[in-house]
Amino acid sequence: MASRSRFDTHEVFNQSPPYENVDLFSSDAPLQDAVKANGAASELSALAAFGRQWGTADMFALARQANENPPKLKTFDAKGNRSDTIEFHPAYHRFMRESIAAGLHASTWMPSGSRAPAPAEVVRTARFYMAAQVETGHLCPVTMTRAALAALAAEPELAAKVIPKVVTRNYDPLFRPWRDKSGMTLGMGMTEKQGGTDVRANTTVATPDGDGYSVVGHKWFMSAPMCDAFLILAQAPGGLTCFLLPRFRLDGSVNALRFQRLKDKLGNRSNASGEVEFTDAFARRVGNEGAGIRTILQMVQLTRLDCAIASAGLMRMALAQAVHHCRHRNVFGKKLYDQPMMRTVLADMALEAEAATALVFRLARALDRAADDAAEAAYARVMTPAAKYWICKRAPGFIFEAMECLGGNGYVEENILPRLYREAPVNAIWEGSGNVMCLDVLRALKGKEEAAVVAVLARDAGVEHATMDQTQEADARAVVGKLALLACTAALKASVPAVAEAFVRSRLAAPHDAIYGAVAMKPAASELLLQRVLPED
Ligand SMILES: Cc1cc2nc3c(=O)[nH]c(=O)nc-3n(C[C@H](O)[C@H](O)[C@H](O)COP(=O)(O)OP(=O)(O)OC[C@H]3O[C@@H](n4cnc5c(N)ncnc54)[C@H](O)[C@@H]3O)c2cc1C
Repeated sequence: MASRSRFDTHEVFNQSPPYENVDLFSSDAPLQDAVKANGAASELSALAAFGRQWGTADMFALARQANENPPKLKTFDAKGNRSDTIEFHPAYHRFMRESIAAGLHASTWMPSGSRAPAPAEVVRTARFYMAAQVETGHLCPVTMTRAALAALAAEPELAAKVIPKVVTRNYDPLFRPWRDKSGMTLGMGMTEKQGGTDVRANTTVATPDGDGYSVVGHKWFMSAPMCDAFLILAQAPGGLTCFLLPRFRLDGSVNALRFQRLKDKLGNRSNASGEVEFTDAFARRVGNEGAGIRTILQMVQLTRLDCAIASAGLMRMALAQAVHHCRHRNVFGKKLYDQPMMRTVLADMALEAEAATALVFRLARALDRAADDAAEAAYARVMTPAAKYWICKRAPGFIFEAMECLGGNGYVEENILPRLYREAPVNAIWEGSGNVMCLDVLRALKGKEEAAVVAVLARDAGVEHATMDQTQEADARAVVGKLALLACTAALKASVPAVAEAFVRSRLAAPHDAIYGAVAMKPAASELLLQRVLPED
């Protein structure tokens, strides 16, 4: 029920009640269908418990606090000693604790370092998708931690020590050597001032020194600087190499990381992103000298998947806010929800969100099966950059449209939508920006198994055979966009055929207008899509 309160001059009415104390899982039909369609039907009740917990008013309030009180860099202590630590608001620590307790940082790994069996990826995707709807900043170290384990496999002896510490479900925020902690997190530093995408331009140097290397140089972006160790790239004598650089040296002294300042970011404000210098910092090699890019690429496939999942989650929350508001707000004698044009806008957005959700879960299933199935491995290789490109690019415009559904209320900071809107672009920018993702898809399609993915997608989507092997770089965005549409259609057909039909009609049969609601949507399709967003209360 909408709340009413009386002022001296007027009564407050016709405002939607807050969207909180919701079950983020059981109220989301597309999410439940995606989980079932991708092999995780046995997890429904556990996921509903997670959805209830994360959808409480308390969690939404904590998320606001974590973002209104961004982390502070403590370069020195009161006596002038170097400190190089970051102070976070307690709400941020609470999110870290909750996410780690739920295994978002490691549930897809076994303590041995092998992959957890299916449907570990799909189940984690569901939790990550719900967590991203509430607070996204803290998910940066969570995603980096789980992904870093893939790269550590290149150094089995080191991995055997680190992974058992990571896979605990303990969040230990104390600043002390990781060996003495009850749990640990991992970050990543690749980007330097003169080159981010082009990591070959890295100028940071690693010189062999005793049991490890001594690292001198900088990183222009290194997020979550309170992680216990970082995978970094540096130039070793044998070429660009991956290293694990811990906050403490083996003798227990603080390692030589000098934080220069924290980035003043558009969004992602609960999370710290630092600029750092390494002044003879101790690091251990991960993989062979010269194999740095190959080693770290194992990690970025997983972080890229998480970017797509998080953006799909942001879209879901924006959509739920818009539909919830329109169901409670009257204009010109009718619920906004029942105004014909608003229904088309909302239904068109619902269709977009359905597609993003279906695609990320299909991709998670491919990762679940990749080890035993070459076709699924090829799907994951091609569709990870394609999904990151497509979904992360669509999210900001989508969230803006949701904001507009709430009118002026959507634009003010007490509402969650401005935060979602500011958060969204980072998923597209980091871990390979849009163009870089499209180039990666073209590179992937040069493989035989990978090229076959296109024909399978076309078949599953029910369209004529599509070929993409002759694509020029200059056309890559257009081609990867089409590939994403095919993959969304195929994923929807396997999950909810009726929704797939609406998707084909409005996105494949004719190009979709850049603006939501500028489509011919059949009333029955609108009704189906809107009912699937949220049950009516
Ligand atoms: C909030 C935030 C947190 C971050 N955290 C981290 C972190 O923890 N660790 C880390 O290492 N980095 C981090 N980054 C950095 C991020 O990964 C880089 O900014 C990103 O990879 C792009 O690199 P760049 O900024 O050097 O831009 P550039 O590499 O200069 O790219 C600029 C643009 O050019 C495009 N481009 C590049 N190459 C080509 C090409 N061949 N053809 C066409 N277009 C091209 C790119 O798509 C991009 O749009 C973070 C960034 C942000 C915003």
